[in-house]
Amino acid sequence: MIPYGHQNIDQEDIREVITALKSDWLTQGPRVLQFEKALAKYCGAKYAVAVSSGTAALHLAYLAAGLKEGDEVITTPNTFVATTNMLLAVGAKPVFCDIRLDTYNFDETKIEKLITKRTKAIAPVHFGGQPCALAEIQRIAKKHKLLVIEDACHALGASYKNKKIGGLSDMSVFSFHPVKSITTGEGGAVLTNNKKFYDQLILLRSHGIHKDENGANVMTGLGYNYRITDFQAALGLSQLKKLDKFMKQRRQIVRWYRRYLRDEKSIILPLELADCLSSWHLYVIRTKNKADRPLLRQYLLKHGVGVNFHYPAVYSQPYYQNHGYRGLKLPAEEVYHSSCITLPCFPRLKEPEIKFICKNIKEYFSK
Ligand SMILES: *Cc1c(COP(=O)(O)O)cnc(C)c1O
Repeated sequence: MIPYGHQNIDQEDIREVITALKSDWLTQGPRVLQFEKALAKYCGAKYAVAVSSGTAALHLAYLAAGLKEGDEVITTPNTFVATTNMLLAVGAKPVFCDIRLDTYNFDETKIEKLITKRTKAIAPVHFGGQPCALAEIQRIAKKHKLLVIEDACHALGASYKNKKIGGLSDMSVFSFHPVKSITTGEGGAVLTNNKKFYDQLILLRSHGIHKDENGANVMTGLGYNYRITDFQAALGLSQLKKLDKFMKQRRQIVRWYRRYLRDEKSIILPLELADCLSSWHLYVIRTKNKADRPLLRQYLLKHGVGVNFHYPAVYSQPYYQNHGYRGLKLPAEEVYHSSCITLPCFPRLKEPEIKFICKNIKEYFSK
């Protein structure tokens, strides 16, 4: 089975991890800060705080933003549940904005109507690596005095108007899970240009403890242990060096898909907006006929193509249905999640594999 996503680890990565394992520092050593500096530099942000997962990074970003009980945050239903689960974890309420049927990101023209007195932030998710319309989102946020916290877990390496995702909003969150742009096993980070948020994030990551002027440990806030280890940071540093190469490889896969699926009229291929460079975390096609979706999925799985589903609408999950979202159906989102299929897309895939996947799609439709 060709999986939909897979990590890319080479001998150099392995050497770097072994070196870290043999050093004095398994955790809280120098490599974490080195990784954070390299990541911030790559993305054009002032600060990065590396943590134990993307979910932990979202939790800390929402806490650092001061989100609390009763606050509302406008976001997309087309995301991994962690985006909104962590809002619920801090007591805030996710407000789902319908999506666009070209990029599958939330529709920026529908955000303003959802703003209430309780709205505190907008949380864009760059679905599949295709950047959201950040200029319009920033304009709305400024006008209504809202924070912008990006769940950029799909978008490390993506650009918006020639600027890397990661340094463009109040905070941006990344994940280093094995299927993402680069991996540390588990891992994540929050990037920001704001010193106040940075200081908060550092405290929250490690029990709310810091050193006072005499060098004694004092606890001044309620924190967690969301630290990443030094051997993970070593892997992150080594992976980061290859990120641009990974991005080129993903773009090549997309060119092959376009070439071999160009004439298949029963599906819609994903697009890239003119002022954006997608990181192509996911390659999602849609069937024009809803009835084809389950059948094409089955057909591909039977033939060894590990297709996936990104995502069922978050509001349709049983937990959300039981916690205030019953009856919610956003029209474009409903169309999207009943027609989407995620095809394999990751750096190590070669042209014969893409040809094989496309041949199977065409065979399904020719029957
Ligand atoms: C992967 C992902 C997360 C969670 O990241 P983890 O590192 O797995 O905790 C959150 N949001 C989105 C959009 C993701 O794709």
